[in-house]
Amino acid sequence: MSEQVDIRHAMVMVPSRPSDPQPSDLPVVEPNPRGHQPGQRCREQGCGDCHWDVQRFKYWLRGRLLAEGAEDAEVDKPLGAQTPGLLWRRGSRLCAIEVRSGPVDLAHAAERTARLRAVGVDEVLWVCAPGYWVPLLPGVAIDDFAAAGCEYEVVSGLLEPGPGDIAVPGEQSWAVREFIQEWVAGNLAFGYRDETAGGWASVGTWEQHTRAQAMMIAQQRQELMAQRSALALARKATRDKAKQVHKLLHRLERSEQVAEDLDQARRRLADHSRVDATLRMTVARQRSALMHWQLITCFAILIIVTFVAAAMILNG
Ligand SMILES: [Zn+2]
Repeated sequence: MSEQVDIRHAMVMVPSRPSDPQPSDLPVVEPNPRGHQPGQRCREQGCGDCHWDVQRFKYWLRGRLLAEGAEDAEVDKPLGAQTPGLLWRRGSRLCAIEVRSGPVDLAHAAERTARLRAVGVDEVLWVCAPGYWVPLLPGVAIDDFAAAGCEYEVVSGLLEPGPGDIAVPGEQSWAVREFIQEWVAGNLAFGYRDETAGGWASVGTWEQHTRAQAMMIAQQRQELMAQRSALALARKATRDKAKQVHKLLHRLERSEQVAEDLDQARRRLADHSRVDATLRMTVARQRSALMHWQLITCFAILIIVTFVAAAMILNG
């Protein structure tokens, strides 16, 4: 006790030199010797300062969770074989938070999420740096892990009702404080917008989203049915056309057959006429030959008659 008094006394006794900073010049809070300065946004992996910022963020989160009604919140508490960055409980809900200030390996993150679910965690939240990985994880992105005054801001990963009540990525940023408040109260949930990408949205937004999706599915089903009946009609028309074509083909075959028969008949006719012409020529030739013989015969008879006449005249 006396020593403390002495020290205080000694301090009071030290004469202030002009070079010493006056107490009024000193900042109210001494700058943190560790971690990054606000706005540096370091994304280096394995960076010691980043690690410190993340640890500070986790302890800050723990404080927020407990303040918002979490019954138990622990930093780096083992659960089974897993050690999530933060584990909190409220009633029957057991939730985990993983924090990454650098780039996230999606395969590793998916495996870790699955392992956490396997040991009984109901909801897993990934708090990471902005990047393509955010919608592919049940994650939100924080712009600056060394935010001034711990005013951390969620810049992506949140969804809001868009056109047609479908959930779309939100434009405005949220304070992490607000996000935690809503999440602990059970008003926020992670869901998928499509087969790969998802986000965090209020339960009301999800209700609207699922209703809009159900309506879209019903509409698509109706369209599909209409398309199916159109297809059936088209198929029937095609079948009818095929039948017609078949009939026409059959007719064509028949007419081909008829044409062939005709052709054959014509050929036969031509053969006949050829034979006819040959016969005609033969007949003509025979007729001329006959004429020759008749002439020769007449001539011979004339000569015989001449001879007979001559003989009668000579004998008479
Ligand atoms: Zn760093």
